[in-house]
Amino acid sequence: MARQRLHSFNLPTAFCLRCGYAADAATNILTSGGPKAGDLTICISCGALARFASDFSLIPTSDAEAFAHMTPQQRQVIARARVAVASLKVPPHGTKH
Ligand SMILES: [Zn+2]
Repeated sequence: MARQRLHSFNLPTAFCLRCGYAADAATNILTSGGPKAGDLTICISCGALARFASDFSLIPTSDAEAFAHMTPQQRQVIARARVAVASLKVPPHGTKH
């Protein structure tokens, strides 16, 4: 499989609803477009899912809710992203860098 170039976007600071991690950027792992309201996001510290609100704050989203509307291939993307997040070992309550 060809490697895809990842596209990152600066965002207003938002706090993970599970671990409190303060994030001010997001990387799109599927397309080159920027995030929009309703898109799923994965916390880089703990792997929690959330959805972006229109102001890029985070809306709580359970795995069951998110996975109910996904194809098996989309669930696999989430699982692989979580493996990548776990390997980064980003401490909770920190900020990037
Ligand atoms: Zn988190």
